[in-house]
Amino acid sequence: MRVNPVPATPLSDAVREIVEVGRFLSVRNFVPATSGNFSRRLDARTAAVTRSGVDKGELVEADVLVADLHAPPPEGASAETPLHLQLYRDRPDAHAVLHTHSVVSALLSNLRLAEGELVLQGFELLKALGDTRTHEAAVSIPIFPNDQDIPRLASKVTALLEQRPELVAYLIAGHGLYTWGRSMAEARRHVVALEHLLTYELEKMKVLR
Ligand SMILES: [Zn+2]
Repeated sequence: MRVNPVPATPLSDAVREIVEVGRFLSVRNFVPATSGNFSRRLDARTAAVTRSGVDKGELVEADVLVADLHAPPPEGASAETPLHLQLYRDRPDAHAVLHTHSVVSALLSNLRLAEGELVLQGFELLKALGDTRTHEAAVSIPIFPNDQDIPRLASKVTALLEQRPELVAYLIAGHGLYTWGRSMAEARRHVVALEHLLTYELEKMKVLR
């Protein structure tokens, strides 16, 4: 089978997109303090990733590092970088990965961990997710238990992605959201849509209690 080569994205473009998305997500309180991390694929072998321990709303060029998808993360990269690199290896069409730590993603994933997934159905906003074309579609967001052993968590995600090509996001219980897209714009749209839908689900739990 012929594999189409991944067109290269210049590092300067990737840096600009990462800095901009950091500001956008930070003002919405999706990445409080120094939490969250972002990445952008550069080509078939490398990706630009954010440095650990910096406020994602105030990123500068030096806070973006280049990582080899098949090697240990570069020095200074976030401990969660393997989760980004794994997505680029598993999903050749993923060009951006965004990880947020909002209150609602941490809380709802904890409350619903026993179910193993959150199934979203009947929302107009589902059309903002991947190739979902109708609000009647059921979109599943798997929930993984939090794990400090990131390579172990990455291998669990890989195993699930192999079986579920339609997935566009997952939650880590008590921790946050991972989503990806075929462009930075699509990944950002996924974050905004999912944060809205997660907020709706949490509000619904309060009302129906
Ligand atoms: Zn995190």
